[in-house]
Amino acid sequence: MPRSKLKPQKSDEAPWYADGLRFECTQCGKCCSGEPGYVFIDDAETAAMARELQMTVDEFEQKFTRRVGRQSSLVEYPDGDCIFLEPKTRHCMVYKSRPIQCRTWPFWDSTLETAADWKETCEVCPGAGTGRLYSFDEIEVRRKEKSV
Ligand code: SF4
Ligand code: SF4
Repeated sequence: MPRSKLKPQKSDEAPWYADGLRFECTQCGKCCSGEPGYVFIDDAETAAMARELQMTVDEFEQKFTRRVGRQSSLVEYPDGDCIFLEPKTRHCMVYKSRPIQCRTWPFWDSTLETAADWKETCEVCPGAGTGRLYSFDEIEVRRKEKSV
C-alpha cells in the first residue's frame, strides 16, 4: 500500500466528502489480501497484538513483523495475504487489537484525497460506498488517527 503524496487543502475549501460517505464492511477480507503491501505498526500496536496472542513482544516481533526502512510492518504470506488473515474463514486473527491502519480503512488520506481516489477504493472494497452513512466528522476522526 503506497503512501500518498498529498497536496495541502485550502482551509476555506469544503472537502469533496463534506456530506459524508457510506461504508459497511462485508467481511470479504479483500483489504487484508491481494497485492503485496504494508501494515505499518508502532510499539503500542505491537504490544496490544502480542498481548491478545499471549506472546511476549520479542516473540511477536520475530514471528510476525519485518523492518521497512525505519518502520515496522506485519509480515505477509507469499500471495500477499496478511499473516493474520485466517486462511479458511478470512477473518482477522487479531481483530480486537488490529492496527490503526486496519481500523481506519477505508477512510485514509490516500483514499479520500479526491473523489476519483474514493471511486477507486469502492472498486476494491465492496463495503465502500454502500451501507451506513458516516458523517464528515466521523470520517475525519478516522482519517486523522494516522496518515496512511
Ligand atoms: S475489502 Fe472492504 S468490505 Fe472487504 S473486508 Fe475489507 S473493508 Fe470489509
Ligand atoms: S491485521 Fe487483521 S485487519 Fe489488519 S490486514 Fe491483517 S488480517 Fe487484515
